[in-house]
Amino acid sequence: MSNPPDLIDGRAVAEKVYAELRGEIAALKAEGITPGLAVVLIGDDPASRAYVRSKDKMCRELGLHSVKLELPAETTQTDLLAHVEELTRDPAIHGILVQSPPPKQIDEGAIVRALGPAKDVDGFHPLNIAKLALGDASGFVPCTPLGCLRLLRESGVAVSGAHVVVLGRSMIVGKPLALLLMQKGIDATVTVVHSRTRHLAEITHTADVIVAAIGQAGFVRAEHVREGAVVIDVGINRVEDAAAPRGYRLVGDVAFDEVAPKTAAITPVPGGVGPMTIAMLMANTVKAARLSSSGAGGAASR
Ligand code: NDP
Repeated sequence: MSNPPDLIDGRAVAEKVYAELRGEIAALKAEGITPGLAVVLIGDDPASRAYVRSKDKMCRELGLHSVKLELPAETTQTDLLAHVEELTRDPAIHGILVQSPPPKQIDEGAIVRALGPAKDVDGFHPLNIAKLALGDASGFVPCTPLGCLRLLRESGVAVSGAHVVVLGRSMIVGKPLALLLMQKGIDATVTVVHSRTRHLAEITHTADVIVAAIGQAGFVRAEHVREGAVVIDVGINRVEDAAAPRGYRLVGDVAFDEVAPKTAAITPVPGGVGPMTIAMLMANTVKAARLSSSGAGGAASR
């Protein structure tokens, strides 16, 4: 049996990101710019509410300007668009995000288009997706893929030339992560698998790095992973647990106990990718403020 795996500590890497950002925020403040983030929450989904709370808390800890807009579940598309347009015009706000998933009556794509690329710190606007595909660093890359890459780099995993298998092809994680990893300069060889993939375990078994982002608790088992691979678990799934204080606990897409012993390094859930997603949101907000101060934000919005 090989050495015990390295546990990739997302909280520690996030702290490193915050230490870097503090310097940048201080420099921006010296120029009279306080980076500002607006988070819009529609409805009262408890998980979304918790995410919004932690984003707001992190903004405050870093000394960013934070606006938390809480709207009722029955908010119409027209009302939401009016709020978003107001935030888009507000010079104190550099980044805007609408917490996912919004209620059924909301067309998320239309909202992202309305907020424009320059304040789209989630990286979901078509122009930002195009920039990611083009390798144009002036755009915003979605936070979770950015966090995964940073975790790999900080853990000393050589991504260049490695075979990375990404499980899941969502626009939030899988697809942008694949685009990011295959960029020139990052240079991974990327395979994306999804619910229609045949022989999935055979493919993941050839991976140097596996990134699981499918939303299926414990889906990745020992048989999917070759000895010595690195595993990044993006999944956040609630499973019932009568012994847990809240009646549930959070688990990833990877069956940690049986997979970890085979790996060279693996992220835990919680405490892996989750903290990095918020850290990269803060980083994107600071980037948006920097771009706006240099005038590039205006250009990006055209
Ligand atoms: P989506 O539901 O949008 O996408 C899931 C993807 O996984 C789809 O591409 C789907 O395939 C694929 N998939 C589902 N089941 C299987 C299966 N059995 N075998 C192979 N592929 C499968 O999920 P998200 O990308 O939004 O989220 C994925 C997970 O990551 C969730 O647990 C979510 O909570 C978590 N997450 C965590 C974040 C963090 O900060 N740590 C941030 C964002 C998400 P198909 O396209 O064919 O349907």
